[in-house]
Amino acid sequence: MRPPAPRSPSEPAADPVLVLGAGPVGQTAALLLARRGVPVLVVDGRPARDAVGSKAICQQRDVLDVWDWLGGGTIVREGLTWDTARTFYRGQELFSVRLPDPGASPLPPFVNISQSRTEQVLDELLDRAGVRVRWDHRVSGLTQDDEGVTVTCDTPEGPVDLRGTHALSCLGAHGGVVREAIGASFEGTSFDDRFLICDIRAELPGWERERRFYFDPEWNPGRQVLIHPCPGSVFRIDWQVPPDFDLDTERSSGRLDARIRQIIGDTPYEIVWHSVYRFHTRTTDRMRAGRVLLAGDNAHLVAPFGARGLNSGVQDAENAAWKLAYVRAGWAPPELLETYETERHAAALENADVTSATMRFLVPHDEAERERRVSVLDRALTDDGVHAQVDSGRLAEPFWYTDSALTTPCPERPFGGRPPRGRAPAPCPGVMLPDAPVTLPGGPGPTRIRALLREGLTLLVGAVPAADRAGFLARVRGAAQDATHAPVTALYLDDIDTTGALAAALAPEPGQVWLVRPDAHVAAVLAGTDTEALRRAVRTALGAAVRPAAGSADRDEAADGTARTDGTEGAASTDGAHGSARTDGTPPGPGAAPATHAPSPR
Ligand SMILES: Cc1cc2nc3c(=O)[nH]c(=O)nc-3n(C[C@H](O)[C@H](O)[C@H](O)COP(=O)(O)OP(=O)(O)OC[C@H]3O[C@@H](n4cnc5c(N)ncnc54)[C@H](O)[C@@H]3O)c2cc1C
Repeated sequence: MRPPAPRSPSEPAADPVLVLGAGPVGQTAALLLARRGVPVLVVDGRPARDAVGSKAICQQRDVLDVWDWLGGGTIVREGLTWDTARTFYRGQELFSVRLPDPGASPLPPFVNISQSRTEQVLDELLDRAGVRVRWDHRVSGLTQDDEGVTVTCDTPEGPVDLRGTHALSCLGAHGGVVREAIGASFEGTSFDDRFLICDIRAELPGWERERRFYFDPEWNPGRQVLIHPCPGSVFRIDWQVPPDFDLDTERSSGRLDARIRQIIGDTPYEIVWHSVYRFHTRTTDRMRAGRVLLAGDNAHLVAPFGARGLNSGVQDAENAAWKLAYVRAGWAPPELLETYETERHAAALENADVTSATMRFLVPHDEAERERRVSVLDRALTDDGVHAQVDSGRLAEPFWYTDSALTTPCPERPFGGRPPRGRAPAPCPGVMLPDAPVTLPGGPGPTRIRALLREGLTLLVGAVPAADRAGFLARVRGAAQDATHAPVTALYLDDIDTTGALAAALAPEPGQVWLVRPDAHVAAVLAGTDTEALRRAVRTALGAAVRPAAGSADRDEAADGTARTDGTEGAASTDGAHGSARTDGTPPGPGAAPATHAPSPR
């Protein structure tokens, strides 16, 4: 059955999506929505952009990919590229990890660039896209009904009510107002030790392209130091310091200078920025209630070792933006939004799990954890087999939606679980399609496959005999187009894969179809001859198999009774199950999605 027709462009313009918070996650979300043609209004409580400190410096390839699509290639060009992470213990190098590329991406695995510069670039893009940011609008309340969301903001002129079809709350760690309005908790732990973060400008030859992590160096015994190169000969130095550390005393006593000198010797330097942080791991128990979605630090906080904070926030924005755009366009049922909750909450729990393991190794909670840390590090000096247990941070990577209700599993290409550090999972349903250079036949010239995927659903097809080519591709595209009004592109891999990198990464079988979502995650891998299975996979990828979570009625009313889920959109989840698919397991008749599959080990 073909889905309902999308809204006609002649219908009056709908209310915008309200993006709450103009931090980097809100900025990215607003840009993604605008790029998809969705009217958007951004509010922020600050009077204006204040570029305070460098904070997030370390941006991962798949996030750079998003910003590049939005026109933010400057971030890659200005950022400092690095590809090696070295780990030392008491002055001896234990191991180095080269960062993986599952394809042949022209984008680097990571660049380092200050968060304030990233925000500036994104502001310029917002300006260019005509997206208005209303500063001095502090969100103080939120209610929702069957038609939309009303957000109350305190402004210098008094309170203002703004109306949107949905709200995407990117209010950061301290923006509890929306969490409270939807009745979301924000539980977690805080770590006793604090971290002194200092950006210095200095010439340090040989250190310009590597992350260097030191356990127990003689200049910070019993604790650690992390050094990251940044553009403009700036180095981020990050010392673990005791809970009673006082920055003012450190500075006035000359101890800060002594600390820096212990690392860089007599080299001249200047301090660009410094601050002291205490880190937390916290995750909301829900990231969606009805028409309200939480993203970025507003929904999850992790310590920065592994760079999973902003990187995962941008992936929230990407997940939310295409789903909001598709639901608003009528290309997908409202239930698609429920998979924002299941997919991104599972990602948040994965990030909390990975980062908490790192923090337990860096800041042991008890004597047993302390003994284990010392034993692992001591043994790692002479036994390479122990290196995998030395946890200096597992660097940000995209989450794998292998258990999502949008993913059609492929028995021949199972997910192998969380890969070892420094490795990427083999491409399979749920995993992101590797990036690689491609050239479209008759197109303007070489590009990247990822640059094409965000325009709609993409079918990448393995080669078929010459006599069948035109008809086969038309049948495959037609089957997908039967199942949705969303844009669908079908391409033969061998027509575009000019370097062979995609074939090497995917090893497609003849006539096999790789169905890829607009956020570059593979939704299904199946035989192109089975057009009925393809129709089902397309419907599944757009949320046809999603059912409201059991017990959702309990969630209909928020703590203060102001926010409630909208029954037509599928109610918010109650269990927050890690990676669980929200299908009810009951095939809804012909064209149904497969039943729930068991979560894979991670
Ligand atoms: C020292 C440090 C180093 C880090 N390093 C990294 C790294 O290398 N890589 C990485 O990925 N992450 C890193 N992070 C984490 C990263 O900085 C955060 O994850 C990121 O800032 C989150 O962005 P956000 O947009 O979600 O929230 P924020 O940046 O906090 O933005 C929230 C916005 O909401 C606004 N706001 C808040 N309340 C209201 C309200 N009631 N009404 C209206 N507006 C409001 C604020 O003014 C702000 O503009 C680091 C963090 C720290 C502290």
